[in-house]
Amino acid sequence: MKQKIGILALQGDFEAHARRLSELGAAAVLVRKMNQLDALDGLIIPGGESSVFLNLLGEKGFATLSEFVMTKPVFGTCAGCILLAREVENPPQKGMGALDITVRRNAYGRQIDSTIVEGPTKLPGGPLEQVYIRAPRIERVGPAVAVLAERDGHPVLIRPGRRPAATFHPELSPDTRVHAAFLALAGQGGK
Ligand code: GLN
Repeated sequence: MKQKIGILALQGDFEAHARRLSELGAAAVLVRKMNQLDALDGLIIPGGESSVFLNLLGEKGFATLSEFVMTKPVFGTCAGCILLAREVENPPQKGMGALDITVRRNAYGRQIDSTIVEGPTKLPGGPLEQVYIRAPRIERVGPAVAVLAERDGHPVLIRPGRRPAATFHPELSPDTRVHAAFLALAGQGGK
């Protein structure tokens, strides 16, 4: 049976994630209502504006989503990574506390707010293209957080247990390795 992976589709670039998942043979479900979460094997929280996500979710949506995040595999990219974090800076903002990290929003400033770099990764298959758009920077990771790629000494792709996160946009590169790694995690189910 196809894996059913949700993509939070309140805002941001959810379509590109859906394409990557389809290429890998998974069923992509665009999640607009929290009651859609029940049927899913995992969820992607895409890039966008994390503060806008918080507004659109409201208190109740945030609580329901946090509950899902604690029990199922979830992959956060860019704004999604910010939403999953324990501590958010610049400015301080509520996070779900699912990732033991401190993340700084819009940390690269206006001049270089968007860029594409190719860098080494611990994922098999050689260097990884990384598309950054008004990206956050991970300033601190807890001891249990595996770092799979770094940029200028800061983690950009991490895997703490079943909740990987990237500060860049893997869905905007043709390389499907990052999504494939998430599907492999989601295939192992639950906590
Ligand atoms: N700048 C956004 C934020 O702070 C994240 C940017 C993105 O997701 N591409 O939420």
